[in-house]
Amino acid sequence: MAMSLSKVSSGLIRQGKQSLCKAARAFGTVPDSAYSTSAQGSGGFSFELSDEQKEYQQTARKFAREEIIPIAAHHDQTGEYPWEVVKKAWELGLVNMHIPQEYGGLGLGTFESCIVTEEISYGCTGFQTAIEANSLGEMPVILAGNPEQKKKYLGRMLEEPLMCAYCVTEPVAGSDVSGIKTKAEKKGDHYVLNGQKMWITNGGVANWYFVLARTNPDPKCPAGKAFTGFIVDRDSPGVIVGRKEINMGQRASDTRGITFEDVLVPAENVLGQEGLGFRLAMGAFDKTRPPVASGAVGLAQRAFDEATKYSMERKTFGKLICEHQAVSFMLADMAIGIESARMVTQRAAWEIDQGRRNTYYASIAKCLAGDVANKTASDAVQIFGGNGFNSEYPVEKLMRDAKIYQIYEGTAQIQRIIISREHLNKAAQG
Ligand SMILES: Cc1cc2nc3c(=O)[nH]c(=O)nc-3n(C[C@H](O)[C@H](O)[C@H](O)COP(=O)(O)OP(=O)(O)OC[C@H]3O[C@@H](n4cnc5c(N)ncnc54)[C@H](O)[C@@H]3O)c2cc1C
Repeated sequence: MAMSLSKVSSGLIRQGKQSLCKAARAFGTVPDSAYSTSAQGSGGFSFELSDEQKEYQQTARKFAREEIIPIAAHHDQTGEYPWEVVKKAWELGLVNMHIPQEYGGLGLGTFESCIVTEEISYGCTGFQTAIEANSLGEMPVILAGNPEQKKKYLGRMLEEPLMCAYCVTEPVAGSDVSGIKTKAEKKGDHYVLNGQKMWITNGGVANWYFVLARTNPDPKCPAGKAFTGFIVDRDSPGVIVGRKEINMGQRASDTRGITFEDVLVPAENVLGQEGLGFRLAMGAFDKTRPPVASGAVGLAQRAFDEATKYSMERKTFGKLICEHQAVSFMLADMAIGIESARMVTQRAAWEIDQGRRNTYYASIAKCLAGDVANKTASDAVQIFGGNGFNSEYPVEKLMRDAKIYQIYEGTAQIQRIIISREHLNKAAQG
């Protein structure tokens, strides 16, 4: 299958403006009937995906089932970065989906990203996090890069399978981004970058980094003016990549500390302008939190499916365990959580695709989906009983993988702070 994927998609990537849709057709993932039905309603509110969106979904679903699920446990046990699968996903157009068409990308919306992300995550969220980290690293460039920066740094992501990373968190500051200590001092036509980043996804495999650094040393300078976003080439002298961290879950993903020691960054690599970095780093989340929430939904759906299947096979006290109300109610709660989380995630994605500020919905989606993924995976382990606690069965990994959704891209507590702030601001306006 890899051959046909590669044939379909190398052409797809080269031509850039073609859609994944064509890949799906050539790949044979979509039944003929899917092309002839009119998915969209006559306008207004609709829960129906378009034909094209269904094709993305089917392509990603087939890819996850055939390429990811069979090897996910191996990567979980070994921690090996899934390069081969990432390359195949890249060839198929499932990575970097949002790079604008004018720079050779597919230019797809956040909504389409969410559909694909949920399917990939159903296979393994470690793989999904590796892929999604590209979106996070690229987003500040998409938001504020000048045409030369976009051509150089986004363009190369489409020429070959490369990864990038988003370097904001530090050992001293994660939630409190304004507390970061990495600094950049202007000297001539360069900045000298010094500092230490931590927990950087794709840190060891990235070709370039988005780095947030303090450029105004005055502690009274507001965060909105004190920090600058830079693009930093991985091979710049003074970039020191730490060891791969051994995490509780999502072990296929690559998480590292990165140290910058007197790294010379050309002034032309400043994103937007000096002082814009904090707003850029935070603004990226409006577009990346919905796909992260989709990742959590995909994991929850997998746990739900595994638990349902098991409960319809395992018997206790002379009946299937799904016939015990206590078990079937756990399944019902899973369904409630997953359906709600998916819907608000799609709302958050749809809002930003309409060009509207979606911070409120993006945080609700990220928060709810993260919590649902954790509850669903934990209850799936419960339904599996002793088997659930064992790595021979799939749900133990899901429970470990789920936890990060309440931590990265803003913890569950930070999302609640954002949601309440957005709500109260609106309420104060009357
Ligand atoms: C696997 C993994 C991958 C990651 N990938 C990246 C990446 O690619 N790039 C990147 O920049 N970062 C990344 N991170 C970092 C991640 O975003 C941070 O870990 C996260 O934002 C939390 O920051 P912290 O770890 O410093 O925790 P802290 O900020 O120290 O928080 C500790 C606890 O206190 C709570 N807390 C903090 N402040 C408040 C408050 N005001 N009110 C209530 N509760 C509060 C938090 O919710 C949390 O429960 C990653 C982390 C992990 C583990």
